[in-house]
Order: sequence, then C-alpha cells, then structure tokens
Amino acid sequence: MSRAFNFSAGPATLPQAVLEQAQAEMLDWHGVGASIVELSHRGPEFMQVAAEAEADLRTLMSIPDDYAVLFLQGGATMQQALLALNFAEPGQAADYVVTGHWGKTALKQVNHYVQAHVAASGEAGGFRDIPPRADWTLTPGAAYVHVTANETIHGVEFRELPDVGDVPLFADFSSSIVSEPLDVSRFGVIYAGAQKNLGPVGVSVVIVRRDLLERAGQPRADILDYRSHVKGESMLNTPPTWNWYLAGLVFKWMLAEGGVEEFAARNARKSALLYRTIDGSDGFYRNEVAPAVRSRMNVPFFLRDEALDKPFLAEAKDAGLISLKGHRALGGMRASIYNAMPEAGVEALAAFMRDFQQRHG
Ligand SMILES: *Cc1c(COP(=O)(O)O)cnc(C)c1O
Repeated sequence: MSRAFNFSAGPATLPQAVLEQAQAEMLDWHGVGASIVELSHRGPEFMQVAAEAEADLRTLMSIPDDYAVLFLQGGATMQQALLALNFAEPGQAADYVVTGHWGKTALKQVNHYVQAHVAASGEAGGFRDIPPRADWTLTPGAAYVHVTANETIHGVEFRELPDVGDVPLFADFSSSIVSEPLDVSRFGVIYAGAQKNLGPVGVSVVIVRRDLLERAGQPRADILDYRSHVKGESMLNTPPTWNWYLAGLVFKWMLAEGGVEEFAARNARKSALLYRTIDGSDGFYRNEVAPAVRSRMNVPFFLRDEALDKPFLAEAKDAGLISLKGHRALGGMRASIYNAMPEAGVEALAAFMRDFQQRHG
C-alpha cells in the first residue's frame, strides 16, 4: 500500500491514524459485534460517540457554555441559507463581506429571505485582498454581519477578527476551523462543513450563541430550525452517524497531537515554506494574494508558463503528490494543506517545485 500526499481542497486528506482506527473498528466497534454505522443513533454506543465528539470539540476550541454545538446534514451551503431563516426577520437587512467565491455563495442563499447588503467586496480586485474594515459600509439594524474566514478557492484569509460592534458576527469557517486558536466569544455563529479540516463530507458543525436562538426568524419547517436541532441534540431525524463518528476520531487525534496551538504552529510552518518557495522562484511560480491575507490552508499558485501546467501535474503525481490542480474558476494550481497534511508532505511538495523549476525553468 502506498498513500500519496493528497492536496485536495475537499473532500480532503484525513489523518492516517484516524483511517487506520476506523478500519480496525469497521466490523466490530468496541466489541459490540457490529460496526458503529450499523447501530441505532439512539442507542448507548452512538450516543456515547456523539457526546464525546461534542465534548472533544468544545475542549479543542474552548467553546464557552453559552454556545450550542450542532452536528447537522446539508453541508455549509445549507447552513448559509438557514442563517437567514433562523436569525433575520423577513426582509431585514443582513450585511455580507464578500472576499471570494464562498462569500458570494453565502449571499446567494439568502436573497429570498433578507435584504442582503454587500458591505464590502474584494471582487473588483479579483479577490486578491480583503477590503480594510474602515471601508466597509455596515447597515444599522442589520441582523448580522457575515464573513468567510478563509476563502478556499481564492486563498484569502482573515488574519484579524473584524470589529462589527453590537451586530453579531457570523463566520463560515469551513476551511480553517480548528487550524489555530480562536476566540469563539467574538462570534454569533461559526459554521463549517466537515470535509476540509474536520473529517468526512456529510456533516456540518454549527456553533451558535444561545441567546440568538430566541430570535423569531422566519416561517420555517422544524427541520430547518436551529432551536429544534438544539432541543433534539442534533437528532431530529437520523443524523449522519458515520461522518459524526469519523469527525470525533479526528478531534481525539488532534487533542492527542497537542490541540489547536500545535496545529497553528505546524500550519504556520507549512504555509510559510510554500509561500517562500513560490516567492523565491524568480517568477517561475507566483501567488497573487496580498501577503497580509494569504491563506494558511489553501495556497493557489500559477506557473509563469501555462504550457507547463500539465507536465507539472503529471510529474507531481509520479512523485506521489496528488490533487494539485487549481479550481476551474482560477486555473493554475492549488495546494490545500489542512491540519491532516503532514509537514513532510509540504516539504516534499516544496522540493518537487524547486526540482521542477530547475528542469523546466
Ligand atoms: C467547501 C466550502 C463550502 C461549501 O461546503 P458544502 O459542504 O459543499 O456546502 C462553503 N464555504 C467554504 C469556505 C468552503 O470551503
């Protein structure tokens, strides 16, 4: 068996130790004679898995008690729609700071429900920078301000939390949750699809300040109601037990490795090495994002000579480095280097990039 270093943006690489544990437990979870995915979600075995996953995530992220934690289906995109339904009155204003593709997606989900207002956008500059807070035009009385903490496609990441006063800050952390310590109390809602940094696709984590759950929101079915999900402990209907279980294994792995502080240090080293390799290539490779907001998780880069894109990808694959093709919206390359990407993987990529340049530069 040989595992490549997999730079996929999502679904993304998982820690090998987690996959091995899942494999070992696949047929017989903890001696019960069945896989955890074959057991009732209301049985004692899965209830334990679910409770431990929440407790471990609370520990990892230091989530205060006045925040509820949900494990839901529907992906990050579904949460984007539910934010408006649950926390804004029909037609109320909601402010969106658009710093890339996912910010635009978030906006698109709520146009039917709120007076969505683009408070700032980096689109005119090709999403290569984040508009400074001083230039944002926030709406008085807005239901919330929405930001995308890390733009997975454009490779732009907030490195400082914006101050938005008394209006709750809602943030899409799909591709950077648990990548470094975070002051959860600064947010009204934090949400993330799991398939970048938390585990497998199919479950989303939503962290909600409890007082916001008292907002009336808009007419909606029970299954679209965060309040009901909190009451039902994320089990209004059958939850994605396999995904929840695997995410729980990732949380335990992270805690054993040293928690978010340790991953923040690793992620800083990994991203610095890649950007150093790109910036030191005399233009053979380039990343176009303003250095102050470059993403630590997703590093898009371009080869000076596009004709070398195909050979780059082919030779990288032969070297055991896969999924480096950039998103179709941007072209070029993208290396996604979430928590589960070992430093050895980024070192191998940097060495390959230098070698490829020597041979083709
Ligand atoms: C991947 C991603 C999404 C979309 O997630 P789905 O689970 O596919 O809905 C939203 N926001 C960000 C920042 C992402 O990286």
